Amino acid sequence: MQKVALVGLGAMGSGMAGQLLKAGFPLAVYNRNADRAAEAVKSGARLAQSPREAAEDADIIVAMLADDHASHEVWLGEAGALHGAKLGAIAVECSTLSPAWVVKLAGTVHAAGCEFIDAPVTGSKGHAASGELLFLVGGEAETLDRARPVLKALSRGIVHLGPVGSGARMKLINNFMCGVQTAALAEAVAVIERSGLDREAALDVLRNGAPGSPLVKALSQRMTERIYDVNFALHLMQKDLRYASQEAQSHGVALRTAAAALDRFSEADKRGWGDRDFSAVAEAARESNRQ
Ligand code: NAP
Repeated sequence: MQKVALVGLGAMGSGMAGQLLKAGFPLAVYNRNADRAAEAVKSGARLAQSPREAAEDADIIVAMLADDHASHEVWLGEAGALHGAKLGAIAVECSTLSPAWVVKLAGTVHAAGCEFIDAPVTGSKGHAASGELLFLVGGEAETLDRARPVLKALSRGIVHLGPVGSGARMKLINNFMCGVQTAALAEAVAVIERSGLDREAALDVLRNGAPGSPLVKALSQRMTERIYDVNFALHLMQKDLRYASQEAQSHGVALRTAAAALDRFSEADKRGWGDRDFSAVAEAARESNRQ
């Protein structure tokens, strides 16, 4: 079996660690807050004190981190994973990051004698824990093939989209549309509630009609029950909308609907919902413009 290191055991990384152990990969883990790695260690993972220590000896180093800043810290920081990586090891960046950063990181990884693919995912916390993610991959086909057994253990599918950065770009396009749909649903819920329509009847029309995407189906319940346990944190959706807008801008496209959605998410963040589930954007829509 290939030896695997996993750095970043948040909502997504924790589930991925469980799946890798279940599949029988020897696994070393690192998380900044070591408490979040306890479950993986209980299930047989080796706890490393730094990303560097986790990466030593690994054939495949998987990262699942919040954003560009975290990715920079964990790969290239003082005790960063790249400093421990052996020649020929494969760095697999699964975090949702800006393509510009991903391309820069890939260059540094290659210069250190290692290989790189970007492999962000669709699916959420539950899919990470059940091995049903979908990987969106950028990089060389040969590198992907070497990393495939690890990705396969974590996923229901692997889509190779092109050179390094392609996976990151596709993921931002995906989440830009998810963010816009979520903000639109939040505003729809606010109008339904304020106007006195029968809320369940109205939401049934939306869920079973043309707007009834899997996202709308899943989030409408969270928004009406107002239970915002984190599947995907609201501040991470803000980050994705920001990165998506910057990426689109670099190709000469202005994402105006992303700007409107980001405005609504930022309002929710200011009201203290940033660390709750992104469906809590409904609270900002409910409160907005209230006389
Ligand atoms: P999360 O629970 O907030 O975990 C974030 C991880 O990044 C934690 O391990 C955290 O460490 C680490 N981190 C943050 N800043 C750091 C820093 N400066 N230095 C070192 N480590 C740092 O987030 P998540 O939901 O697992 O998401 C992880 C990535 O997957 C994100 O890029 C997100 O956009 C993407 N994603 C999430 C979902 C979802 O549904 N949740 C779905 C698809 C993709 P600590 O625990 O020490 O804070």
